[in-house]
Amino acid sequence: AADPRLQGISDAIRVVPHFPKHGIMFNDITTLLLRPRVFKDAVDLFVERYRGMRIDAVAGIEARGFIFGPAVALAIGAKFIPLRKPRKLPGEVISEKYVLEYGTDCLEMHVGAIERPGERVLITDDLVATGGTLCAAIRLLERAEADVVECACLIGLPKFKDFYKLNGKPVYVLVESR
Ligand code: AMP
Repeated sequence: AADPRLQGISDAIRVVPHFPKHGIMFNDITTLLLRPRVFKDAVDLFVERYRGMRIDAVAGIEARGFIFGPAVALAIGAKFIPLRKPRKLPGEVISEKYVLEYGTDCLEMHVGAIERPGERVLITDDLVATGGTLCAAIRLLERAEADVVECACLIGLPKFKDFYKLNGKPVYVLVESR
């Protein structure tokens, strides 16, 4: 049977049609953050899954991966690595471009964030749609010789389910978008 906490998580996510543009069903997790029990349930579900997996680092994708990633990292005794949009990190960086619906975007990571080859990394974000963003994050970490164990998102868009395996890496989602 499904974990009873998952229904509460699904119910707490607000779906906003036509935001930020026509045709997009935006999944808004800020409504979930306003309910501390539900916010904790989401973090706990990730912690329960990853605490036995010897994760060295949690890498969060700007900006909504910064909400869940650090909470999970602290609970499992892992470090946190921010993957940021261009020109935000002050030190030496490596970058990966990726394709969006319109145009391209880019993620950057500090050189030195991965301190030893083979560090075991979990990547976090709020939602996976096409998987393009997670794919760029995986490429960044693999260039730094990290071992990407899994990607974890609160929400998966079922429309893109076939893409949930990225570069051979599994994506774990708590709930599917309504
Ligand atoms: P993708 O790279 O196509 O998997 O898109 C995932 C990224 O875009 C994540 O960082 C999401 O926060 C954001 N995103 C894409 N589609 C949506 C959506 N329908 N609602 C909320 N965020 C979205």
